[in-house]
Amino acid sequence: VTVVEALSRLLPLPSVDEDCSKILQREMKKRKIEFMVNKTVDRVEDHKKKLRVTLGPSPFLDKPSIRDKEPLVREVDKVLVCIGREPNTNGIGLEDLGVKRDEKGWILADEGMHTNISGVYAIGDVLGPSKVMLAHIASSEGMVAAENAMGEKRTINYDVAPGAIFTTPEIANVGLTEEQAKSRGYGVRSDSVLFRNLGKAQVLGEIEGQAKIISDMETGKILGVHLVGAHATDLIAEATLALQMGCTVKALAETIHPHPTLAEVMMETSFKAVGKSLHG
Ligand SMILES: Cc1cc2nc3c(=O)[nH]c(=O)nc-3n(C[C@H](O)[C@H](O)[C@H](O)COP(=O)(O)OP(=O)(O)OC[C@H]3O[C@@H](n4cnc5c(N)ncnc54)[C@H](O)[C@@H]3O)c2cc1C
Repeated sequence: VTVVEALSRLLPLPSVDEDCSKILQREMKKRKIEFMVNKTVDRVEDHKKKLRVTLGPSPFLDKPSIRDKEPLVREVDKVLVCIGREPNTNGIGLEDLGVKRDEKGWILADEGMHTNISGVYAIGDVLGPSKVMLAHIASSEGMVAAENAMGEKRTINYDVAPGAIFTTPEIANVGLTEEQAKSRGYGVRSDSVLFRNLGKAQVLGEIEGQAKIISDMETGKILGVHLVGAHATDLIAEATLALQMGCTVKALAETIHPHPTLAEVMMETSFKAVGKSLHG
């Protein structure tokens, strides 16, 4: 398997911590998966019983070197294209109603899911990548829209919207990355603990990965949590509650966690963030 990525790292999403991308790439490499970053597929041709794929430099490269520009050819059995989503909002009467969309056609809605037209709500993927295109977010937005349509005043908080990526190892995140927190003016603290320090990870034989907590240096408030490792997509629920409740690293560290569990990684990382590192 060869993964071709136009940007400079795997999962180059603003919400995904760079360390998570690196650890995923390292673990996938161990499984003999090859990576071509800063490259795009220029051409796919039938060649005998195979497909001949020609790779060129990424259009996102500022100044491609001569080496970057050299075409690379791979012969493969199958090609799986998994990029690109576009809105399907033409011809369903939005123009007649005057519902505002952006230049690409994604519907514009506020955090109460109201469009610019009273009584018309929009939720889910149709809001586009400036919001969060995930199933559980669409579902929560749907509940907010339904309650507001019945006269409530609910809003959705995208700052505590968890993301889950079902790779091996899994990746999950909630809240801000270090860069995002800095750009919002926080004095940022970042603490990480490796899964290999957990008894449960050793028992499971799944020791790859780490937890990272981004916190506000001044108040200790948790601003973001980034997990890569076994069951990360389940573990992120605790972090999401912590962010939703405005929890500090001290409060999370002092929360008793059952042993031996993977969830202890949250407690261990929080202890580190208050300068009382236990096992990692
Ligand atoms: C390959 C893939 C993997 C994914 N994995 C995950 C994941 O692991 N976790 C996660 O949270 N999210 C995942 N997502 C994203 C998730 O599927 C979407 O965020 C979610 O389905 C959005 O829900 P939605 O209701 O907005 O849109 P959709 O689920 O797309 O529903 C829209 C529906 O409207 C219908 N429709 C379109 N036009 C009309 C029309 N004119 N009239 C009537 N009906 C119409 C469509 O047929 C469709 O059934 C994944 C997406 C993809 C593509």
